[in-house]
Amino acid sequence: MAAKTIYTLFFPAIAMVKLPSIRDKNLDVSGKVVLVRTGMDVPKDDAGNVTDDSRIVEALPTIECLLKRDAKLVLMAKVGRPGGKVVPSLSVKQVASRLSELLKKEVKPLGDCIGEEVRSVIRQMSAGDVVFLENVLFNPGEDVNDDVFAQELAKNGEIYVNDAFSSSHRNQASIVGVPKYLPSYSGLLLEKEVKALSAALEKPRRPFVVVLGGAKVSDKIGVIRNLGLKADKIIIGGAMMFTFYRSRGFAVGSSKFEADKASLADDLLNEFEGKIVLPVDVVAADRFENDANSQVVAASEIPAGWRGLDIGPESVRRFCKEISEAATIIWNGPMGVFELGNFAGGTLAVAKAISEMTGKATTIIGGGDTISAVDKAGLKGKFSHSSTGGGAMLELLEGKELPGIAALLKNKAES
Ligand code: AMP
Repeated sequence: MAAKTIYTLFFPAIAMVKLPSIRDKNLDVSGKVVLVRTGMDVPKDDAGNVTDDSRIVEALPTIECLLKRDAKLVLMAKVGRPGGKVVPSLSVKQVASRLSELLKKEVKPLGDCIGEEVRSVIRQMSAGDVVFLENVLFNPGEDVNDDVFAQELAKNGEIYVNDAFSSSHRNQASIVGVPKYLPSYSGLLLEKEVKALSAALEKPRRPFVVVLGGAKVSDKIGVIRNLGLKADKIIIGGAMMFTFYRSRGFAVGSSKFEADKASLADDLLNEFEGKIVLPVDVVAADRFENDANSQVVAASEIPAGWRGLDIGPESVRRFCKEISEAATIIWNGPMGVFELGNFAGGTLAVAKAISEMTGKATTIIGGGDTISAVDKAGLKGKFSHSSTGGGAMLELLEGKELPGIAALLKNKAES
């Protein structure tokens, strides 16, 4: 009984928020300096080269939309985790250079993200010019949402646009600080992400099936609680499943699980009985290596010394059947250790099954590992919506309001 009361506290409906958007016809950006927080947090190698430009490509619609309307663009991004100091390999220089190739126009990287020198370059810009401020996370003020730093950033523009869904769950200066000081709007990517996810949560076509995987139950408890109340089925794979099995006293061998989350997993199984679908078999290995010996065993009877590294063939069959009957599918987290080719089968089968439903069903995927598994399987672009946010997507699915979105709405309410 007590558990039920607690769960209702985790049920704040995600309102179908109407974000202030750059699509607003009354927004005149012509000749104005528009400061855009992009989500161009691309992976880079040690030499600083961009190894995957997807996040630059995803930022193009907003940039092109503003350029078409004769804005002067000042772009910002965070790249990697420099921890508040300058790390040359995490500079935006190479990002600006790739963006310049894609836009077929000059994108000038600046040496800093605040200061008089930066402002003097911006003052000399003409309509249609694009500059890129240096990595905002090179400054320690970004991560702690330092107000003075936010005001300094805001001095670089007349209008602020947040197009970084992937960072909108963070209380950082370029996300929540700047919109205190400038008229603020969402970019097209942020708007697309929020619309896709909130529509699925608010008015899912049924059956609504959620597929969760990955390593930790602790990361996904909030999601299971919120979606347990909305979804028809919650399919669970990945190492997470062993915490559920442990909670029921099953033998999980040397599989990865979270001992301190077992009782929580047990509560979730009780609360959402009949909704949570666990694997019935697993591919178990005698070592955590691709060439380990492996065998398919019942998920609840893993021999001592063996570890479950993927879901088994009967689980794949059952999961794919649920997926094939769904009208809305949300997937976050791999079914097994997909990085090791011999244990990627379950994840790839689920990826394929979900992609085949696109069109018949709304298919939404997200999370860094999920996207990289989908890319590996050659299924990029084969889903109704592929989210650019991992943590941000999970927080929306938990029913939380993202700080970046709250900041835009507050700005709108006060204008
Ligand atoms: P997460 O960041 O929680 O989404 O977890 C993703 C990671 O979970 C990936 O690196 C997977 O290799 C890992 N993972 C998935 N299934 C298992 C498993 N059965 N045992 C160990 N790790 C797993």
